[in-house]
Amino acid sequence: MESTTRTGQRPCESEEQSLGTIELAAIGIAHVDAAGRFLHANRCLCELLGYSREELLGMTVKQVSHPQDKNVTDEVRARLRAGVIDSFQMEKRYLRKDGTAVWVGLTISVARGPSGEPLHDVAVVQDISARKQAEDALRRSEERFRSLVELSSDWYWEKDAEFRFTKFDGKGVTDGRYDPQRAVIGKRPWELPGVVLESADWQQPRARLLRHEPFRDFEYSYRDQAGKQYHLSVNGEPVFDEPGTFAGYRGTSRDVTARKQAEERIQYLATHDGLTGLPNRTMFSQLLNLALETARRYRRKFAVLFIDLDRFKVINDSLGHEAGDTLLQETATRLKKVLRSSDIVARLGGDEFVVLLQEVKGAEQVAAAARKILSAVIKPMQILGQECRVTASIGVSMFPADAADEQSLMKNADIAMYLAKEEGKNNFQFYSKGLKTQSLEKLALETNLRRALERNEFSLHYQAKLDLGSGAIAGVEALLRWTSRELGALAPAQFIPLAEETGLIVPIGRWVLRTACAQGVAWQRQGLRPMRIAVNLSPRQFADPDLLTDIAAALRETGMPPELLELEITEGMVMHNPERAIALLTAIKQMGLRLAIDDFGTGYSSLAQLKRFPIDTLKVDRSFIREIPKDAEDRAITEAIIAMGKSLSLTVVAEGVETEEQQAFLREHACDQMQGYYFSKPIAPGEFAELLRKHEPLAA
Ligand code: C2E
Ligand code: MG
Ligand code: MG
Repeated sequence: MESTTRTGQRPCESEEQSLGTIELAAIGIAHVDAAGRFLHANRCLCELLGYSREELLGMTVKQVSHPQDKNVTDEVRARLRAGVIDSFQMEKRYLRKDGTAVWVGLTISVARGPSGEPLHDVAVVQDISARKQAEDALRRSEERFRSLVELSSDWYWEKDAEFRFTKFDGKGVTDGRYDPQRAVIGKRPWELPGVVLESADWQQPRARLLRHEPFRDFEYSYRDQAGKQYHLSVNGEPVFDEPGTFAGYRGTSRDVTARKQAEERIQYLATHDGLTGLPNRTMFSQLLNLALETARRYRRKFAVLFIDLDRFKVINDSLGHEAGDTLLQETATRLKKVLRSSDIVARLGGDEFVVLLQEVKGAEQVAAAARKILSAVIKPMQILGQECRVTASIGVSMFPADAADEQSLMKNADIAMYLAKEEGKNNFQFYSKGLKTQSLEKLALETNLRRALERNEFSLHYQAKLDLGSGAIAGVEALLRWTSRELGALAPAQFIPLAEETGLIVPIGRWVLRTACAQGVAWQRQGLRPMRIAVNLSPRQFADPDLLTDIAAALRETGMPPELLELEITEGMVMHNPERAIALLTAIKQMGLRLAIDDFGTGYSSLAQLKRFPIDTLKVDRSFIREIPKDAEDRAITEAIIAMGKSLSLTVVAEGVETEEQQAFLREHACDQMQGYYFSKPIAPGEFAELLRKHEPLAA
């Protein structure tokens, strides 16, 4: 506030001259005597204080001073008069006549007589209230800003033109062990200990700083001395000084640790198996692709091991799900224990695990790992107080020898695993191209068929049967369709024999039965007339002791009227064990269903034998129809079948009718119904509804 200068004696002027100049000055000037009384005041000062000259001349300086600033000049004025100093400057407040305060900048010197005796003080008074106000406003805004920084969880920082922190304020959210203020001042962000970038490196962010660009939501993390990790999100903008030169950056840093942790948790849940904590299929796929990339770049080998527990279902069924879960968890732990930390163990679902062995030298090393896994799995474990023992089957495929992409690696390991199962379980097998493709395909087929139901890969198509007499649609046959995620669309001929062989046809057939019934009911709900639906039964289903229960359940649960359901069986099925067949077919008939013999003519039965069975319909195999009307023998056989069928009061249906001529021939020989591409291929349920509406506008 105060400054003094030691200048020389003021030059002597005539009193009048000087007063004239003073009066005109655009700055307040006063002469004050030793007692502080105004001897003279110029116009500017009078205006500033709001007094007339007359009023002012009777007053003292103290009378026009702000109460708090009354005595601030006392001491310096004494020193001034004593000649210790020549002048001084200070800022103080005056009080105007109207009682308001005004800040002034004051410069006081002493006018002296010829012998140096003090005559009076000369005060130069400048109104500085505007500057003071601006300063005040600035101070207040700084205070506000500071309290904001204090309140918020952000840090406020500034950096110099060399990107070194010069300021780092705010509470932030450290637990007090970390003092950012001390740790960062004078350092560049990339020089801070413990700082790790979320993105790859500092190159890009540094380039951005060098270009003096603003940035938002730049994230990095750091570890404090205690090793605790924090995540920061930073916003910054360049600062330029008046002439426009770059002066550094300022911005805020926010602790986003909690958000990051939440994100990580979500990420974790999406990529890990809830039961075992192992990576799940999604994550394994990512890791496998990463491994593929690295292995390709550095020409490395790695192995994928498919591991399937052998008796898991038995344990799950006999001891319960809880026991099953414990077993899976224990298996996961064991797998992790026997493998290197760089190897990856994941759970694909159910009792399927998969291992990625990184950087392997050769098959022997993989075999050793597989043996270790087998012996780790087989060790007895205590579950619900019982000692259990499971074994595993392992299939191995290697990169790049066996496959070069994710899908093939997984598929081949899966196939090899199936081979291990076939080899009697509790062993491992390498995938090999030497294996007969046919059996490999069968393995792949079987593997995928096993999962097809739960993966919802089956659907039903419907093929109309046309009444040759009336031209109306007499019924419809449900035909199974399978679109496999891995193998694509497959025709029944490609998978039904295998489903039959493996027994998978039983659950699949149950699904078909229920789906067809549900469809029949759905069509009726859509306003279609009741439609008889035929469903094919396989020998294995026919032998299944639960068949009757399954049929009853399908009818009951869907609300399908039994008389609308027809089951198609083949000759072989009934000829094999006629007594049982008669009993079973009779029971089915008693439930109200209809029965058909499918593909008739291809078996060894004669119609006379079939008389014993309670059948309603005879379907003449496509092979007899195909060469009609060209082939005389086929014509004769078909004619005979139709005639004999009719004599037994059976409905005769010709299969595989593809041409106009075939249809004409069949109609001529009074065949009841026909089915074939000529009228309609098997089509999706919606299309069938369309067909029925178009074909019979009144009935639909
Ligand atoms: P299928 O029961 O004799 O069914 C008739 C087959 O002949 C169907 O083949 C059908 O698409 C085909 N077809 C119909 N009209 C013509 C035609 O004009 N020309 C030719 N070339 N073919 C025609 P799809 O659907 O491939 O089924 C083949 C067999 O698979 C069926 O023969 C049946 O035995 C079995 N199948 C189909 N679905 C099921 C099912 O849900 N369960 C069981 N157990 N077997 C089924
Ligand atoms: Mg059929
Ligand atoms: Mg048939």
